[in-house]
Amino acid sequence: MIVPDLHTALDHHFGFAAFRAGQHDALDATLSARDALVVMPTGSGKSLCFQLSALLLADTTLVISPLVALMKDQVDALVARGKRATYINSTLSAEEQQNKLNILARGWYKIVYVAPERLRNAAFLDALKHTRVALLAVDEAHCISQWGHDFRPDYLRLREFADALNRPPMIALTATATPQVQTDIIAQLGLRAPIKIVTGFNRPNLALRVRYTPDDDAKRRELAALLREHTGSAIIYAGTRRGTEEISAFCGEVTRAPAAFYHAGMADDERTRVQDAFMRDKIKIIVATNAFGMGVDKPDIRAVIHYAIPSTVEAYYQEIGRAGRDGEPARVVLLYSPKDRELQEWFIENDAPEPRQVAHLYQILQRAKNWVSPGYLQRATNLNDSKLQLALRQLELAGALKRLGDARGLIGVEVTPNVTLNLAESEAETEKRRAHRRKLLAQIIAYAETNQCRRQFILRYFGDAGNADAPDCCDNHRAATTAPTRRAESAEEWVPLVILETARTLQRQVGTQKLAQILHGSHAQEILQFGYTRHKFYGKLADYRVGEIENVIEQLLKQGYLKTIGGKYPVAQITPLGEETVNTRAAIAIELPRAPSPTARAETHHTRQAGGTVARTLALVQQGKLPAEIAQERDLAISTIYGHLEQLVTEGKVLADQLVPADVREQICAGMREWNGQWLSDLKARLPAAITYEQIRLVVAAEKKK
Ligand code: ADP
Repeated sequence: MIVPDLHTALDHHFGFAAFRAGQHDALDATLSARDALVVMPTGSGKSLCFQLSALLLADTTLVISPLVALMKDQVDALVARGKRATYINSTLSAEEQQNKLNILARGWYKIVYVAPERLRNAAFLDALKHTRVALLAVDEAHCISQWGHDFRPDYLRLREFADALNRPPMIALTATATPQVQTDIIAQLGLRAPIKIVTGFNRPNLALRVRYTPDDDAKRRELAALLREHTGSAIIYAGTRRGTEEISAFCGEVTRAPAAFYHAGMADDERTRVQDAFMRDKIKIIVATNAFGMGVDKPDIRAVIHYAIPSTVEAYYQEIGRAGRDGEPARVVLLYSPKDRELQEWFIENDAPEPRQVAHLYQILQRAKNWVSPGYLQRATNLNDSKLQLALRQLELAGALKRLGDARGLIGVEVTPNVTLNLAESEAETEKRRAHRRKLLAQIIAYAETNQCRRQFILRYFGDAGNADAPDCCDNHRAATTAPTRRAESAEEWVPLVILETARTLQRQVGTQKLAQILHGSHAQEILQFGYTRHKFYGKLADYRVGEIENVIEQLLKQGYLKTIGGKYPVAQITPLGEETVNTRAAIAIELPRAPSPTARAETHHTRQAGGTVARTLALVQQGKLPAEIAQERDLAISTIYGHLEQLVTEGKVLADQLVPADVREQICAGMREWNGQWLSDLKARLPAAITYEQIRLVVAAEKKK
């Protein structure tokens, strides 16, 4: 066909002045009967690619889309512009459906939207026999891929369906497809040498942030801070239904304004009410599970905050994409705790029906009629909708039933009775899917934990080679501009730098407690064992107690110089902000627990020189000092000093003679002859009360040594 001047057509049909990135290329493809795969984020104008094509092509364009609600909106908008558009789906009465099928068969419509279930509907397929299809548009094309996040078995019928239509040119569109899913879409749909258009993933007005919040307290603190400095509408995504309710109550307290929650467990009308209130600015903050957002096209959402990590980068991108649709600056913040992965892992391990549930469903179906309501099956089997669909598919694969399609809200099945169920294939499929989902989870965790540019991470993830510029890019990028600049001078100001440098240079990363132990110079087994003593800063902060160092580490975490990452055993890692600060040796505003006194500092110095705390005690004994004097000088408990002495006596480095007067020694030795050697208290009871336990211990150690 003759390709018209596309700009004129765009203006004529839609009143738009210019194409957005990718649109022109997509139209070039469809209008010259080439297949195309379009990957562009939500809101970037994918629909226009097939809508304008449809209006310019002579025959009918069929659009497959699973989003029944959006379908109506799009058709209404087209009809309002006087275009011959319609949709055919189960929300229409049987009569209306038939009516439309008749008109479709006459070839009057330019564009017809249907849901994928329709591909199983005989009347529809019949009507198509009389229709010339100019273009088959597959929206939400990732649904065909088992590797996508929203696999729909019905999409697998598409290839056959296209063949039955004499294989019209196809355009597949999706907002979320990794390069792997893109390849899969092409293969599953059988696209022929498609033009690939991957563009528009950079949303420069979204400032990307990750806050490292190791526990719930930290999350609440961070969330409260965000809410206080933030005005405008915000969505907060939580991991669980209960989470949405609790967090919305918390938000209400912080902002002193009502916040709503939203999840799939609520009644439909309640959900609609909440969504409406949010859309009309009656409520500024909505706390929701991922059930919220499909079709939420509110332009002025200023923040999307994730209270926990989502399951995939695709899901995350989709959810943050709801912020700043108006192009004005908006913030997206992920509150990240390494522990969050556990919830996601749980979802993955529980994503499929168990074999006994599939067998149970089979029993129920054998007793049921050919047409059953999904609600009834869900209640009878205790499976949610997606698991029910998977169970039906497993039975289909096992040859136990045939699906007849869906009609009037009922599922049509033809059951083959008494099949011995072999679900091995399904099990293998499930395991494969889980392995894949674990990989996807690892990717979103990598996003959360990276020290690199987050925007580039996302673009690369989707295979978008475009530029990743943005005025306010991400927290990792901001490091250079937000780091402190005054150089550290005093010994106290060096403390945080020493901690950061250690975190940066340790061969094996460690948790916050171990990091403190290393800096303190602890002799704990696991510190000695793994060679941490060889680190240049081992014992560098020996002036401080372990707990005090941990306190400083906490502050560094809170201020974003360090972060905790990892899985079950989180480790402390330096952030770009921390790196920048170490590199410039800048002073960080930290509250030190206490400045060590000059004597304490001298003592630390001597101890290190002597080669440890016991060796230091030995040195003082050799100078002729008494235990009490040593304890005072070293600011240690006398019992600690006696502990050292006992060790020294046992090792033969000190003689009991030096420490215990001769007559006391004799009395103790005499007592020992009648003593069974077990309880020190027995021995003490035989001796004059003036003789102390410490003296007894030293003499006993000396005698044993002999
Ligand atoms: P997607 O399907 O990618 O999520 P839509 O097709 O719904 O996005 O488009 C989002 C909005 O952008 C719609 O309101 C649409 O009318 C508008 N739009 C699409 N293309 C253009 C364009 N070239 N110029 C201006 N607005 C456009």
